[in-house]
Amino acid sequence: MDISSFNPPRRILMGPGPSDISPQVLQAQSRPIIGHLDPLFVNMMDEIKALLQYAFQTQNAHTFAVSAPGSAGMETCFVNLVEPGDKVVVCINGVFGQRMLENVERCGGVPVVVEDSWGEAVSIEKVSQTLEQHPDAKILAFVHAETSTGVASDAQALCALAKQHNCLTIVDAVTSLGGIPVKVDEWGIDAIYSGSQKCLSCVPGLSPVSFSQAAVSKLTSRNSKVQSWFLDQSLVMGYWSGEQKRSYHHTAPVTALYALHESLLALYKEGLEQSWQRHADMHSQLADGLTELGLDLMVDQSCRLPQLNLVAIPNGVDEAAIRAKLLNNYNLEIGAGLGQFAGKAWRIGLMGYAARKENVSLCLAALAEVLG
Ligand code: PLP
Repeated sequence: MDISSFNPPRRILMGPGPSDISPQVLQAQSRPIIGHLDPLFVNMMDEIKALLQYAFQTQNAHTFAVSAPGSAGMETCFVNLVEPGDKVVVCINGVFGQRMLENVERCGGVPVVVEDSWGEAVSIEKVSQTLEQHPDAKILAFVHAETSTGVASDAQALCALAKQHNCLTIVDAVTSLGGIPVKVDEWGIDAIYSGSQKCLSCVPGLSPVSFSQAAVSKLTSRNSKVQSWFLDQSLVMGYWSGEQKRSYHHTAPVTALYALHESLLALYKEGLEQSWQRHADMHSQLADGLTELGLDLMVDQSCRLPQLNLVAIPNGVDEAAIRAKLLNNYNLEIGAGLGQFAGKAWRIGLMGYAARKENVSLCLAALAEVLG
């Protein structure tokens, strides 16, 4: 076999994730390996927990990073909180709401779907009506920031509705955390998961999660065992909990957690509000530039995500050829449309470390050139 070391080029990642990561986070990953039960490592895990509590704006003790990507964070919430026969209201306005539905079905839950058009926010009115019609519903699940469309839904209003109807909430914050406000305690979110590779600007493969006391109570009073051993939070608790002596559950991805520590520290030092503002500022610069190029943003301003921009492909343009030129000539990655938007839109990400002036300028200049 003629195989040599893999040396990827340095790309600028302005797609739907993974996003650009800073040199500091990259370097953190190459520090020496230590044992995952080494007291120094255990101390670092405690710091990650504190930094995640800050990022999620929560005091929840059950806050940590699942050793697997965002989809595993999603499964963590569903397999632990949905028992066979539980009615779950699932909001679908894109790919990831659809994936939530899959999870409910696979857990033996009884899904009630609230559907909204792709490119629109989850309708508060429809969710309200559905919760009225299904007083036995136990959980409301929705995606805060739909990466397939670039739409933000009103998580605060949806959580308030869920509380009025005695439902727990499961919230997907994979793309929202760090890029727009996510306030777990203030909004009363019960179970939330995110991903390391979006606005946290860390290496992919980790999923921060947080469970409220009500979610932990539901989990600890289950009638049936969680069907996934790995994701069963009653077992993981002993590993991440600061109060008890840490016990072996699985081997932590040691160097990926160094990177998460470094990226969360950067977010803490910058400050959440400053990070949200930076994403908003970079978005408005990008939006202005795209308009000057004659390109249209497809999502209404009222629910547009700053960190994920859905751009309509002009008539007659070969969208894949444009993306290939950006990649080959500029080392710049933007995303293709997903699901209903495949072939109709590009997705330009401004996530975390990628939400910088130089990236916006490069993206606009490169697009101007390749579109001719
Ligand atoms: N939820 C949303 C909103 C996402 O954007 C993604 C990934 O893009 C996921 C869940 C799944 O995360 P992962 O690809 O890390 O498994």
